[in-house]
Amino acid sequence: MRRAEAEDKLEELATTDPLTGLRNRRKFDSEIDLEWRRAARSKTPVAVLMIDADHFKAYNDTYGHQAGDQVLVGIAICISDSVSRAGDCAARYGGEEFAVLLPNTSAAEALNVAETIRGKVQGWSDDQATSTVSCGIASLVPTTSMDWPILVEAADKALYAAKAGGRNQSVVASLPKLSLVA
Ligand code: GH3
Ligand code: MG
Ligand code: MG
Repeated sequence: MRRAEAEDKLEELATTDPLTGLRNRRKFDSEIDLEWRRAARSKTPVAVLMIDADHFKAYNDTYGHQAGDQVLVGIAICISDSVSRAGDCAARYGGEEFAVLLPNTSAAEALNVAETIRGKVQGWSDDQATSTVSCGIASLVPTTSMDWPILVEAADKALYAAKAGGRNQSVVASLPKLSLVA
């Protein structure tokens, strides 16, 4: 193996989630940091989706941890299949939680992506035990007084609202409230 190839392989291993093949949280954080600053310069919106498997503890308890792992891989495929633009970053953010970074994407466009993912997960699991996901969406144009965690927190709050609203749904963070916080 050439040295450059070995370096690429190491970089890939260090940034990839081993179960799903998506980017890991460390990579997501470094990508959003980069895109956030780029978006502040170009005054374009950055969107984040936070996606969480519904009632996943019950799924594991009923079908076993290995079956649960298969669902996580299935969700990851549904996400990858729905996210394709250069600069997009789909990551496994935690155990059964995923995050998607969508540079230059409005809230309405991000909602479309989220709904595509949600529909794919629902369709994919039709012939098996049903699995669904809830999605929180936030999009904003960065200003100098804001840092990117505010975007992730907003998407996370929207995700909680989707859970509270009955799960298997997408909720967009309310931007007027966001700019008050900022
Ligand atoms: P909610 O709809 O509110 O999200 O409920 P939930 O049961 O999905 O959420 P909770 O946080 O209570 O449980 C998350 C579960 O996800 C518990 C944990 O065992 C499971 N989990 C986390 N990581 C993995 C993993 O890598 N593989 C498997 N099979 N299960 C995992
Ligand atoms: Mg969950
Ligand atoms: Mg969770």
